[in-house]
Amino acid sequence: MSQPELVSTDPSTGEAVWRGPVAGLEDVNRAIVSARAAQPGWEAVRLSERVELMRRYQNIVRDRGDALAAMISRETGKPLWETKTEVQSVIGKVDISLTAYQERTGNRKKDGEGFTQQLRHRPHGVLAVLGPYNFPAHLPNGHIVPSLLAGNAVVLKPSELTPGTAALMRECWIQAGLPEGALEIVQGGGDVGRALAGHEGIDGLLFTGSATTGHALARQFAETPHKILALEMGGNNPLIVWDVREADLPAAAALIVQSAYLSAGQRCTCARRLIVEEGKHEALLEHLTALIDKIIVGAPFDEPQPFMGPVVDNRAADRLLDQVAALRAEGAVAVRPLTRITPDRPFLTPALIDVTEVMYRPDEEMFGPVLQLIRVPDFSAAMMEANATRFGLSAGLIGGDQPLYDRFWSGARAGIVTWNRPTNGAASNAPFGGVGASGNHRPSAYYAADYCAFPVASLEETRVRGVITTGLRADEE
Ligand code: NAD
Repeated sequence: MSQPELVSTDPSTGEAVWRGPVAGLEDVNRAIVSARAAQPGWEAVRLSERVELMRRYQNIVRDRGDALAAMISRETGKPLWETKTEVQSVIGKVDISLTAYQERTGNRKKDGEGFTQQLRHRPHGVLAVLGPYNFPAHLPNGHIVPSLLAGNAVVLKPSELTPGTAALMRECWIQAGLPEGALEIVQGGGDVGRALAGHEGIDGLLFTGSATTGHALARQFAETPHKILALEMGGNNPLIVWDVREADLPAAAALIVQSAYLSAGQRCTCARRLIVEEGKHEALLEHLTALIDKIIVGAPFDEPQPFMGPVVDNRAADRLLDQVAALRAEGAVAVRPLTRITPDRPFLTPALIDVTEVMYRPDEEMFGPVLQLIRVPDFSAAMMEANATRFGLSAGLIGGDQPLYDRFWSGARAGIVTWNRPTNGAASNAPFGGVGASGNHRPSAYYAADYCAFPVASLEETRVRGVITTGLRADEE
């Protein structure tokens, strides 16, 4: 029987972008066996050689950067200007990971009295990586580079929506000389991910995706606490705008638009809830809606370039439209509605929905260009609203002064806190992750080194020496 086919499609046109077979259980098994066979040899390669190979990988990604950016744009619908920055992040990851590896998992040696104390780190073995579609190159790469650097082999299952991007990235690794088996790919959807996650041949799983999937994986891993599990999940991120001077309102509006609608709202750190002061919000809304009305929504290769593309597929668009319709049925008012621009493609307009009067607001991540507006009477209520979520990924404040920001910073339950910056402009040389339903306290990016290796503490002496000084009977004369 022939294997089912996986086809990725361009959200802007509906055209097929990439085709290949869906991995069966045997393929998953084969990939893991191959990675297991390759791992000891890869670990034995000197660090300087592993780094040299990664430098070659960087250069190849640089050379093939236009093709990689185009592939990401075609599979996700993200504008080309944006996917070019994603390619830069892929290239930049090598240096950041190397610094982090040395700083956080480097070797330490200390001479004690007659012995040596050493701290070194070992790779786990074979790590599975599950990737999301929204940064199909940068996010899997953010697990792959530190994993390989630490001496692990990797089996990647990319998002079923972006298989071509993953295949292209693997080509770059192979071209750079990565040994056979050190990076395997299995293509397919949730079933393939589940099979990989449950395979006894992996030593851990590094996941980036939705909370629903992440929590299912945590349940799947409940009986294997010896395996490392890193979960990077979504958020229902608050953005408070408070005490903004009139002259700064245009800038505040720009920060809100960037926070909410960049990547058509398909960034885990995008602002989902805009919290403003009741009675003082009208001027801000005037600036904000004027800017929203100017946003160009278009296809990735359009000229002039759009601010945002479509969402990833019609299913995602339908779900968002349903979520907004449900809020409106509960009394939400559309300041700017969520509308489908073309009937059969997932181009959506950026939406601003006032949900202040909605009694029950589901604490769900709306992964698209939808910003919920909530009016509150005072800053304590704003903080309460900001933290009224099971998630804790990003939280932002626009406006205020240092004491107000200090109050916000210490009160906000989130792993990424911003002040007068977009919520989604994370620093690549900092840890990245959240609390609550957003993660399991294994932040990624700069701290990815931590979950790619385990510490081995050694006490060492070159000669055999041993003496017991207490609790022994004296020698008989
Ligand atoms: P998703 O959870 O649907 O899928 C992620 C990956 O898991 C895919 O490869 C998918 O095939 C696989 N998968 C799905 N069900 C599975 C199962 N039961 N077992 C094993 N694997 C399974 O996520 P998505 O829609 O691709 O990505 C968007 C989500 O990712 C959003 O929630 C976003 O917030 C989140 N995200 C988080 C971060 C972060 O760093 N915290 C970054 C980017 C995206």
